[in-house]
Amino acid sequence: MARVFEHLHPHEVAAHEAAHVVTGLAVGLRLRYVLIATPGNEAAGLTVWEPDHSDIAYAIQYAAGVVWDSMSQTYFSKEDARLCRKHVDYKADVEVCKRIAKDLLTTRKRAHEMITKALLNADHYRLTGRQVSALIRGEHA
Ligand SMILES: [Zn+2]
Repeated sequence: MARVFEHLHPHEVAAHEAAHVVTGLAVGLRLRYVLIATPGNEAAGLTVWEPDHSDIAYAIQYAAGVVWDSMSQTYFSKEDARLCRKHVDYKADVEVCKRIAKDLLTTRKRAHEMITKALLNADHYRLTGRQVSALIRGEHA
């Protein structure tokens, strides 16, 4: 929410959303777009995927939000924890998703940094899936 965003540095929001992007792509989701809020926008940040039937893939990228928040000690997204739980059958699976997400983030630090930076420099603070793919392949989007 915009009210929340006022207390956050845009970099923190970008890094949080980049965590969703990096892990979601790693487990095969297709990114539609990712954005961070500008004044007047409601959400602090938003990562939107193309429809996919894999609950576990969604759960892992939601878990990434939780893991990122605890690793960076920026802010806590209750919504990510709730949505992760919604996509798995058992509470224990949430912990598994968090472990996977943490591993994916740890091994993809460079991609995470690139996406965070690109989001902060993007037109309207928004990147399409195509732009992010080009970025990861090392092309100029
Ligand atoms: Zn999140």
